[in-house]
Amino acid sequence: MADSPRVAVIGGGLAGLVAADRLLGAGVPVTLFEKYPEAGGLVGIVTVGGTPLERYYHHLFTSDIDYVSFAKEFDLEKDLLWLKSRMGFLSGGRLYDFGTPASLLRFKPLGLVGRLQFVLSTLKLRQSSDWKRLEGETAMGWMRRNGYGRALDAVWGPLLRQKYGRRAEDVGLVWLWGKIALRTRSRDETGLGERLGYLKGSFGRGVAAVLQRVKERGGDVRTSRPVRIVKRGAGGFDVTFAGGTEAFDLVLSTVAIPELLRLAPDLPEETRKKWSAISYCHALCPILELDRPLSPYYWLNVGDDAMPFGGVIEHTNFLSPADYGGRHVVYLSNYVLPDDPKWKRRDEELWAEYLPALRVVNPSFDESWILAKQIGRAEYAQPIIVPHYSKLLPPLQTPVPGLWSACMAQTYPEDRGQNYAIRIGREAADAILATLR
Ligand SMILES: Cc1cc2nc3c(=O)[nH]c(=O)nc-3n(C[C@H](O)[C@H](O)[C@H](O)COP(=O)(O)OP(=O)(O)OC[C@H]3O[C@@H](n4cnc5c(N)ncnc54)[C@H](O)[C@@H]3O)c2cc1C
Repeated sequence: MADSPRVAVIGGGLAGLVAADRLLGAGVPVTLFEKYPEAGGLVGIVTVGGTPLERYYHHLFTSDIDYVSFAKEFDLEKDLLWLKSRMGFLSGGRLYDFGTPASLLRFKPLGLVGRLQFVLSTLKLRQSSDWKRLEGETAMGWMRRNGYGRALDAVWGPLLRQKYGRRAEDVGLVWLWGKIALRTRSRDETGLGERLGYLKGSFGRGVAAVLQRVKERGGDVRTSRPVRIVKRGAGGFDVTFAGGTEAFDLVLSTVAIPELLRLAPDLPEETRKKWSAISYCHALCPILELDRPLSPYYWLNVGDDAMPFGGVIEHTNFLSPADYGGRHVVYLSNYVLPDDPKWKRRDEELWAEYLPALRVVNPSFDESWILAKQIGRAEYAQPIIVPHYSKLLPPLQTPVPGLWSACMAQTYPEDRGQNYAIRIGREAADAILATLR
């Protein structure tokens, strides 16, 4: 593109990388700033038994068509595995199969009436094609109003409280609708099981592929360069980062909205007030490497308020332990609100809560099974979708001309996910290119 403006992309997660790649592909010079030493953001990688593994559990749904097209673009589609997964539910200290019609019949915590309510509530949400009509209500309010109290008490209530803590009552029905629609679209033909996707060798390969092309296309990728402030300057923006200040014509931020509000003082007061209402959960994500399996499930929902985590994701019940040097990989899922003292607790204090609770999952569990353990911490890991979220939803072009934003809080009505990070990264790049033409 002749006389192309210089673009700064803030954030080297999937959204930032995909947007940078697309802009570069159209001939627009890009400098990408990433806070950490490695790109990838929430798709960061650790190593287990010599094999790369996501720092935070990741899989795809069959509805993730943007990820599939991304994989095709980078010749990775052949390595997408679509595997059966087994889901369970922990309630009252017992494990149950969950997620298939047959398992529902045996799911005692719901009772007969509750089972009926669960099926009806799920069907009703699945059949709602117009999410806009669901916008006004909270998930819990809708359950109560429709007489699904038993299903709420036994299943949805505990799951929502585990994820959103005291904000559980605020979660919009559209969020739950999205979850149910995605899960159901991921059922296999028989309707009896679920197929989930994984990229052989880890989703880090997707990040590495787009990062490499960004560099090949001449992108200037600067890692360990947190951006501190973005201010309007002569004809564009002055971007101040660890190590200097440089001028750019356009800026695309892919960081969380609270971070963008800190970075961009030129955002008008009215916008700041509105976007301050967008809140998030942080995620604590312990990973255990065990010498034997913990449970028979890939995804175990923890529907018990007394447990210190809301899910047990046994990755090696999805992929083979042989892929990880024979180690059994177990993630714990623990979302906390930013002001929860747990967020600041040291690893030892957290393990003192987590490890005894693993005996509820498997009474024989013993700490001697642990070969290695670590805890991942992700800030702003899950936007909290409240009723009428569309009124808060930030547009790609912010009210400051030339300052763009494409982050997880903007993929509504879809929830977060790699698929939607790719989609919004592409959309943001296309919208920027359209203004340049
Ligand atoms: C626990 C957990 C489980 C998940 N499970 C799944 C799953 O099963 N399937 C799935 O598809 N998705 C899953 N996701 C979601 C998925 O990882 C995200 O939706 C996606 O990676 C978001 O990409 P992004 O680029 O929008 O944001 P991010 O990955 O958050 O990227 C933002 C980047 O900006 C950088 N940054 C922040 N501030 C600054 C600054 N001031 N200067 C420079 N850089 C900055 C960050 O370091 C980061 O690299 C999960 C996420 C979590 C936390």
